[in-house]
Order: sequence, then C-alpha cells, then structure tokens
Amino acid sequence: RLRGGRALAQDVWSIYNVANLPADCINLGQGYMNFSPPKWVTDAADEALRSLLPNHYSHPKGRIRLRNAIKNFYEKSFNRNLDVENEILVTSGANQGQYSVFTAFLEQGDEVILFEPFFDQYLPSVTFNGGTPVYVPLHPQTDAVTPNNSNWKIDFDELRRAITPKTKMIIINTPHNPVGKVFTREELEKIAVLAEEFNLLVMADEVYDCLVFDGKEHVRFATLPGMWDRTVTVLSAGKAFAATGWRVGWLIGPPSIICPTLAACTRIVFCSNSPLQEAAAAGLEQAAERGFFENQLKEYQERRNILLSAFDRLGMKYSHPEGSYFVLLDISRVNFPEDYPFPESVQGRGRDFKACWFIALEIGVSSIPVSEFYCEEHCTIGENFARFAFCKDEETLRKAGERLQGLA
Ligand code: GLN
Repeated sequence: RLRGGRALAQDVWSIYNVANLPADCINLGQGYMNFSPPKWVTDAADEALRSLLPNHYSHPKGRIRLRNAIKNFYEKSFNRNLDVENEILVTSGANQGQYSVFTAFLEQGDEVILFEPFFDQYLPSVTFNGGTPVYVPLHPQTDAVTPNNSNWKIDFDELRRAITPKTKMIIINTPHNPVGKVFTREELEKIAVLAEEFNLLVMADEVYDCLVFDGKEHVRFATLPGMWDRTVTVLSAGKAFAATGWRVGWLIGPPSIICPTLAACTRIVFCSNSPLQEAAAAGLEQAAERGFFENQLKEYQERRNILLSAFDRLGMKYSHPEGSYFVLLDISRVNFPEDYPFPESVQGRGRDFKACWFIALEIGVSSIPVSEFYCEEHCTIGENFARFAFCKDEETLRKAGERLQGLA
C-alpha cells in the first residue's frame, strides 16, 4: 500500500496536465501563467548563469544576496527585524519548504489541522512525514439571492473540537487555494487564541500574499500578538514573479522553527536553484521602485473580472475570489453523458472529475476538479465545483469566457 494513498497514486495535476488534453484546449487548470517573468528579472537570471559562483551550490540557507533582499523586502510587513542567518530559509519552491517543516517537526501520529478544502499537497506532505491530518471544514455561505458566495466560514466550535492532545500543528492558507478566501483579522485572531491555548505550531502558507483584491487587508499570521514564536510563513518567488517553474521559495520564522527545518532541507535538496535565487533577489530588490506589485495586482484584478463576467453572463454560481488567482465555479448543473469516453484515471473518480474532463474536451477549457482538495470521506462536497485559474493574459481569458458560454 502506498503511504500517500490516493494522492500518490493519481494526483490531479498529472491527470489534467496539458500533455493529456487537446492542444487547442485553453488551460485554466494548474495554476501557472501563460506569460513570462518581467524582463528585468530574467536579465538577472541570464547574468547569474554567465557568472561563476551562482552556477554552483549555494549555502543551504540560501544565497546571501537573496536572504538580504528577503530581509529588506519583508521586514516592514512582518513588523520586525529579520535575521538573515536564523530567520530566513530559501527553499526549492514553497512546496519543498512546507514539506520540510513537516519533516523537521512531525513525529508518528502527530495531528495536523487542515481547513477543508485544502491545497492538495499538504495531505501527502503530512502523511509521508508520519503525521495524521485532521479536517475542519470551511463552510460556503450558499445564499439563494446572491449567486456569489465568497465567504467560506469557520465554525470555531468545530475547530476547538478538532484539537486533541496529539495536535501539533495547524495550517492556515491565506489567500486560500482553491477557494480564494482572504482570512479576516478577526478569524486569524481567534485561531491565534487556540494556537496559544493548545501550544500549536502554525504554518501560514501566504504564497498568494501579493494577490489580495478590492482593497482587502492581507494579515500576516506571524504579526498577531504572540504568534511570531510559533509561526512559519511560507512564500513563493513563482507566484510573485510569474515564475512557477523556478522552484524558488522561502520560509520566514523564528530560529526555533527555521533551524530544524534547515537541517531537513539540507538533507532533502541541500540547496535551492542558485542562479534563479539571484533573479529572485533582483526581483525583490527592484520591485518597490518599479511599482511592480501594485501594477501586477491591478492586472490580476482585471483578469479576475474578465473571467467572473463570463460566469455572470452564463448565470452560473461561483465563489467570488478575494485573493489568489482561482475561482470556483458551481458545476452541479453541468450535464454530460455517463457513457462519455473518460480515461481510466477519471473514470473511477467523482462527478467533478468527469465534468472537468468533459468541459476540457467539449468546451475547450481545462479546470481542476475540487474534490481533490477534500479528504476521501468529504469529497462529495467538492464534486460541485471546478477550479479555474485566471493567471493568464486577458485575451486568453476572454476567449475562454466565450467558449464557456457553451455550458449554458
Ligand atoms: N499551486 C498550483 C495550483 O494550485 C500548482 C500546484 C502543483 O503543481 N502542485 O494550481
């Protein structure tokens, strides 16, 4: 039996990979951009590749130029000085960062609380490292009057009941993949009270921190009173600079979390991709003077609006994203023939897997089935939704929006 169970056997990213779909299908599935990182960032990568040292191992903590850039970029939003030796750790993408925290801290049977739906990678990351996931639902506020239900709510009694003497960690993902929720300060403060009371370690996955829309506030969990010492924040160059294939990310946290995680990272990958660390450093160094993140946010907000207006024209319900680059479409009324020639990987799965496959092949737009973001026991809730990514140029999103009118 595979230790990862379902997640290892057939992950959703492999099933809905563009390689398995018709070439002319518009890819709004896996969350990556159809545009390049900014030239002033890739120029730094070119320069690094032509230099000697960045072509070789970097320090396992990360290249010092990048750690300094991270320090200078984030100190203000973390509201504290950051120590480049013990409070910043460069990883091979955010995913390897979060995985390594579990490797460093979980012991057999330790429980980790996940809000469900959850970014699918957390589940095997917890179980491969001996942990036991415990699920606390985010409840969509389905309101018959307004089609857009953006407020996925936490039931704090439910959260409290999920905590046992074995609970070691809780994962908070804000802005949230896949629902696009931005946790409010009030919600995070309530979680902080529980983290304190039950002495929990907190993983704050904030990889979409630069994508918070409509003037909403992104609250860094680590900045809440008393939370710095128990929180590790997970961040990503791929999301920040449209470079998901670089596999460069970073962790920020207290030495008590960063140092054991460094030991794990050193044994897993030794160090992250060196030349692209230089490029990420250039990105962080120059972002403010170029107004990069402000402009990028405006572009993403426009991209979001293009896709949402296509869903509005269709009259289909969706979960209105406050952050991230994902929107969940309610596909409960999308019909498809039961005897459609689904591939084997889709055949045995939930209704959403079939609907997404059918939409990709017949409408020509791919998306990700949302039951993958639920544990097996609760996956029928996710079967009502398909996740569409809007990290694409406007023309592509308009074309996808037109094709999707075919769902009417
Ligand atoms: N974070 C991206 C998404 O959710 C990609 C995930 C992955 O490749 N595992 O689409």
